[in-house]
Order: sequence, then C-alpha cells, then structure tokens
Amino acid sequence: MSMVKTPDEIEILREAGRRLAVVLNTVIAEVHPGVSTAVLDRIAHDQIVAGGDKAAFLNYKPYGANRPFPATLCVSVNDEVVHGIPNEHPKILADGDIVGIDIGLIHRGLVVDMAKTVAVGTIDRAAQKLLYTTEEALMCGINAAKGGKRIGDIGAAIESYARPLGYGIVEELGGHGVGHYVHEEPYIPNVGTVGKGPKLLPCMVLAIEPMLNEGTRNIELDSDGYTWKTVDGKRSAHFEHTILITDDVPEILTLF
Ligand code: MG
Repeated sequence: MSMVKTPDEIEILREAGRRLAVVLNTVIAEVHPGVSTAVLDRIAHDQIVAGGDKAAFLNYKPYGANRPFPATLCVSVNDEVVHGIPNEHPKILADGDIVGIDIGLIHRGLVVDMAKTVAVGTIDRAAQKLLYTTEEALMCGINAAKGGKRIGDIGAAIESYARPLGYGIVEELGGHGVGHYVHEEPYIPNVGTVGKGPKLLPCMVLAIEPMLNEGTRNIELDSDGYTWKTVDGKRSAHFEHTILITDDVPEILTLF
C-alpha cells in the first residue's frame, strides 16, 4: 500500500487522532500515586470500545515478537523505555515515578499512535527536565518533517537538540509510517544526517517518537519479550505524535 494517504483516508485519520488524544488524556487524568497500571489499561480499553473503535496494540504481533501484545496500553515506568505490559504483572504507581503511556487506536480501519510520559505525584527536578526535553525533542523532529525534506532531517533535528543536553538517545527503536498498519515504512531513526534518507512527501502519515535516557543510550529487552529497559537503570522518557506531512510544518493529528 502507498505511503501517501488519500484525502478520504486523511479525514478518517484526523478523526482517529482526535479520538486517541481524548482517550490518552482521560488515562493521564487517572495517573496518581497508588493507581495500578492494569486499571489504566482497562480505562483506555473501555473508552476506545465505547467510541466504536479498536485498540491497535491489543493482540498486535510486531515483526520478530514471539507472541501478540496482551494489552491496550504500553505502560513504561522509570527505567522502562517503552513497551511495558500493564496487565500481566501490574505495577502500583508511586509518588515520584515517571510513567510513559503509549496507545494506538483503529478508527474505521485506520491506525494512529501516540505517547506521553507524565509525572506520578511530585517528581524531582531531573525528571522534570527529562520530560520537558523529550517533549521538546519530539517537537524539533516534527518541525523538521516538512514535505520535500528527508527522513534524516527528522533524526538530525532530534539529535542536535538532545545530545548537547547530555541525554542518551535510544537508537534501537524509532518512528514509523502509520495508518494502514501499526508499523509501516519508512522507519524513522531518532538520530540522523540532514539531507539523507527517503524523501518526505505531502500526505504521508508518520509517527515520530524520540526516547531519551538520563544515562547512556543503551537498552535491553526484558524476559517478558516486550519491555525495553535502560541497561544502567536510569530513567527514560518517550513522547510520540502521529503527524500528516504537508508542504510546510506538519499537521499534528494527535493533538489534544
Ligand atoms: Mg509508534
């Protein structure tokens, strides 16, 4: 299928993005010390189904995985980078934690994807800076994703913003095309070189998703087959939007 979406598909993806942003906002409003990650997952699932849509990650089997993902949300706490499983061994969130919440939704057959990392109760100054910087890195990547530019421009923008601030930039995982499937071409690294890689065309729909670590960039996969963690045990943050490429700066489809 084409990486460029049709006008009808784009209208559906806009509506999908609006719906997803509302669901994630509802979940985030329930994040507080003492809440179980399984409860957050249930809230997300119930709201998606109530809207007549489907949870995109539930039972999705990514390339290379040996079993389908068992939940609606990926919930990743502190040193967990991405793809934490909220409902198999639920965690109780504690004051001072940071929690990454990643969610995908299928509306009328088309997929959108987004993530935010938020504070549980009161977080320390270093965690505040990690969250702020990772969200800013996402915005740098988005603003670089103009029609006619190249995939490498996105990673270069993220890297040139985050690296001087001393954060580890995760390289094993990155952004991706989205819409017909959860993961489509092109792959979008969070590091890169200006002017390199496939060209960005108006009407492409992409998920941009930097992951920044307080320590080194190195991550490892947990024995559950999904949860990525930092090797040094330091914290990690993740922000993601689904965007529509235009002739100018992109339209963010998952803005609340
Ligand atoms: Mg994604």
